[in-house]
Amino acid sequence: MSETPSNFIHQIIREDIKNNKHEGRVHTRFPPEPNGYLHIGHAKSICLNFTTAQTFDGLCNLRFDDTNPEKENAEYVEAIKENIHWLGFDWEDREFFASLYFDRLYELAEKLIEDGKAYVCSLSPEQAREYRGTLTEPGKNSPDRERPVAENLELFRRMKAGEFGDGEYSLRAKIDMDSPNMNMRDPVLYRIRHQTHHQTGDKWCIYPMYDYTHCISDALEGITHSLCSLEFEDHRPLYDWVLDQLGLPSHPQQIEFARLNINYTVMSKRKLRQLVEEGLVSGWDDPRMPTLAGMRRRGYTPSAIRNFCDAIGVTRTNSVVDVAMLEHALREDLDQHSPRAMAVLRPLKIVITDYPEDKIESLRLPCHPKNPEMGEREIPFRRELYIDRNDFEEVPPPGFKRLISGGEVRLRGAYVIKCEEVIRDSRGEITELHCTHDAATIGAKPEGRKVKGVIHWVSVADAIDAEVRLYDRLFNDENPDRAGGDYHDFINPESLQVLKGCKLEPSLQNLEAEARYQFEREGYFVADRHDHTAEKPVLNLTVTLRDTWGKSQQKVQQKAG
Ligand code: ATP
Ligand code: MG
Repeated sequence: MSETPSNFIHQIIREDIKNNKHEGRVHTRFPPEPNGYLHIGHAKSICLNFTTAQTFDGLCNLRFDDTNPEKENAEYVEAIKENIHWLGFDWEDREFFASLYFDRLYELAEKLIEDGKAYVCSLSPEQAREYRGTLTEPGKNSPDRERPVAENLELFRRMKAGEFGDGEYSLRAKIDMDSPNMNMRDPVLYRIRHQTHHQTGDKWCIYPMYDYTHCISDALEGITHSLCSLEFEDHRPLYDWVLDQLGLPSHPQQIEFARLNINYTVMSKRKLRQLVEEGLVSGWDDPRMPTLAGMRRRGYTPSAIRNFCDAIGVTRTNSVVDVAMLEHALREDLDQHSPRAMAVLRPLKIVITDYPEDKIESLRLPCHPKNPEMGEREIPFRRELYIDRNDFEEVPPPGFKRLISGGEVRLRGAYVIKCEEVIRDSRGEITELHCTHDAATIGAKPEGRKVKGVIHWVSVADAIDAEVRLYDRLFNDENPDRAGGDYHDFINPESLQVLKGCKLEPSLQNLEAEARYQFEREGYFVADRHDHTAEKPVLNLTVTLRDTWGKSQQKVQQKAG
C-alpha cells in the first residue's frame, strides 16, 4: 500500500479493509456521461477515483454512463478518453459502457416485475408528476400500481418490441408513494425513447434510467466503493433498494463527496455546451473554457491540475474554490519546468546610436534561473532592438522604473542604456527611440549611480514574428452562475486580445506545438496545440506572473506565525 493522503473516504476504506468488507478489495470507477467534454470538476472525481484505487492497490474502471441517447455521441466518448489519459490516468482494458449491460438490465427488470416489485404505468409524464406529490404532500398511487404480473410482463415486452410511442408507458419500481424521499416514490426504471444510440444503434427503443442502471453496472463490475457527488445522497436509498431486490453477488457502497465549484467559472456541461453552440467561445477546447481540453490548450499541465485536486482535498461540505488557487498551482508547476525566454509583445524599435552598425555580440543567458541543468541560450545583441511599448513612458506615473526620456534602464542580460531622443512620425506617434549604451555595464553595475529598472528586448534583425493571444477570465463576476441570474450578463468582453507582430528571441525557432515558456516579465505561454506552426508561431497566454493566491497565503502564514 502506498503513502495515503488522508481524506474521509480513505478512512472509510481503511476500516472496510480491516473488516474484510468486499474481501478487502478496492475497486472504483469514473462514470462520465458522454454528453459533453470533461471539465475541471470532473478532474476532481477522476483524481479521487484513480488515486484511491492506486493508494489501496485496487483498480479503477472507466465506465460511460450512456443511458440517454439524445445528447450523447461518440465524439464525446473519444474526447473523454483522451482527456483522462492526458491527466495521467489509465484504466487499462477496463473500459465499459452502461449500454453493454442493456440485455442484462432488461432481464433484471423482468425479474423485478415477476417478483411484484415493478409495474408498467400508463400515466403521462405530466400526470406522473402530479401523482408524485411534493416535499410536503405525499404522492398518490398510480391507477396501474396493482396491475397483475402477467399483464405487466406482456406490456413491458411490447414496450421493448416498439409497439408504443415515446412516453406512452413507463416501467416503475413499486416502492412507496408516501416516502419522504421523493426518489422512492415509485421511480421510473425504463422509458420509451425511439432514438438511435451511439453504441447500440436501433436495437433498443426503451432505455433504463440512471438510478436503475448505475447501481447494477457497479455491481456487475464488482465495484466496491462507488464515489459520487453529494447531489446523489438522496438517491442512495434507491441505489440500495434496487440491489437488495435483485440479490446480485456484490453490493457496492455509495459514498458521496462535495462537487468542486470555482469562482468566475460556470461548471455544468449544459452551460458549457451553450457557450459553444452560441459561438461565445471557439469550441469545447477554447482556452478560456474550464474543460480539460480547453485548459490543455491554454497551457495547463496535467501535474498542475493533479496538484490542485490534491490541495483542495475531499470533503462533504459544498464550497466555492478561489480560481486564484488553481492558478497558483499552475504557476508553481510552470515556474519549475518552463524555460525562460524574451518576447516583446508590443514592439517599439530602439536604436543604440553609439553601437556599431555591423557589430553582433552573442550573449548567453540561463534557460532557468534556478535550474542550471536546463542549460543556456544564445541571444544576439545589436544596434537595433525591440522593447515593449509599455516599458517606455514620456510622462511616467509615480514609481515607474522603466525607460523614460533622458532616463536609464538595464536591458536584461546586457547593457544599461539611456534614452536620448524620441522620434515621431508626421502624426506625432512615437516610431522609435534613440539611445546610447554604457559599455562598462555588461555584467557589471553602473558606476556612481543606481539603475533600478530591467526590461526585456529582442534584436530586430533576429526576431521571430509571432501571434500572441492574451486570454483573461471568461466571466468578470465571481458568481456568474448565481441562482436566478443569467451568466450571459457577466461575460468579460476583454477575455481575448489578439496581438500580431510580436517579436520572439531567435532561440525560439522551431518551437513545437504545446511547448511552454515563461516570457520574462510577461507570464507563461504555450504554443497553441492546433494553430501553431514553426513558420507561423501562435502562442497563448497561460497565466500572468502575478500570484495573488500565493501572496495572500504568505500573509496568512506570517500572521499565524
Ligand atoms: P455536469 O453537471 O457538469 O453535466 P455531471 O455530474 O452531469 O456534470 P457526469 O458525466 O455525469 O457529469 O459526471 C461524471 C462524474 O463526475 C460523476 O461521478 C460526477 O459526480 C462527477 N462530477 C461532475 N461534476 C463534478 C464536480 N464539479 N466536482 C466533482 N465531481 C464532479
Ligand atoms: Mg450526470
